[in-house]
Amino acid sequence: DQAQPKKPAWIRVKAPTSQGYKDTRDILRENRLSTVCEEAGCPNVGECWSQGHATMMIMGEICTRGCSFCNVITGKPQALDVFEPGRVAHAVAKLGLNHVVLTSVDRDDLDDGGAEHFAQTIRAIRHRSPEATIEVLTPDFLKCGPAALETVVAARPDVFNHNLETVPGLYPTVRPGARYFHSLRLLQRVKELDPAMFTKSGIMVGLGEDRQGVLQVMDDMRAADIDFLTIGQYLQPTPKHHRVDRFVTPEEFAGYEKAAYGKGFLMVSATPLTRSSYHAGDDFARLRAA
Ligand code: SF4
Ligand code: SF4
Repeated sequence: DQAQPKKPAWIRVKAPTSQGYKDTRDILRENRLSTVCEEAGCPNVGECWSQGHATMMIMGEICTRGCSFCNVITGKPQALDVFEPGRVAHAVAKLGLNHVVLTSVDRDDLDDGGAEHFAQTIRAIRHRSPEATIEVLTPDFLKCGPAALETVVAARPDVFNHNLETVPGLYPTVRPGARYFHSLRLLQRVKELDPAMFTKSGIMVGLGEDRQGVLQVMDDMRAADIDFLTIGQYLQPTPKHHRVDRFVTPEEFAGYEKAAYGKGFLMVSATPLTRSSYHAGDDFARLRAA
């Protein structure tokens, strides 16, 4: 194995200490909720939680897939908790969130991939916090029929996000259980089902892709009518995970952002620490105000 490249100065993360961070953590713990912020070891947790932003992870902490970049445990998941949608809605109200990001592990063990549970959670949040905007970051529902996706779209989230994660050539090593064109088609289908719904996707860079490959993914996304794009640096969660091929410079990220706007995306976040849900609420509020 080649040595990992050294972490550059621009990947700097402050240890979380603020009161806002602790308040968010306490509300999440009281309601027994998991977050991607913790499960994925997200570098932005101090900043996001201190501002009351968190990405809730529903349907348990065990995933049926094993993507090589991801820190979530692979295995046989727990049974669905029918009270979870209510607990999520309670926590959202208590945290006073105006934008909620809701995601999950992959549930290839369930016939509908967990679509109905997603829909119930969206409805429970709407009921408790009608003003909050809701963004879902869903699995690919690869093993389900078309009804699964339709169930989630019918619950009318404001933003439908599904990450392509990387360029197609790296799928066999990075995202072995998934199919690039299936994921692309999923997002295109969301737009066909509800043209008013915003669609969003993201990739990580530094996994071994090249610039041309990233530009091609952008073109594919625009051909599928995807509105929002996120691009962030891949960071290796543990030495067992996919290696970091290189650290993409802030200047290269700025170049990606410029190219993406040029291709017609409505909203782009491309920085080393960008994550799928980073500043999602602020960006969305800005867009709606424009
Ligand atoms: Fe959580 Fe997303 Fe913020 Fe990371 S960027 S801490 S996953 S809300
Ligand atoms: Fe992680 Fe999602 Fe892949 Fe599961 S499907 S291993 S949660 S990235």
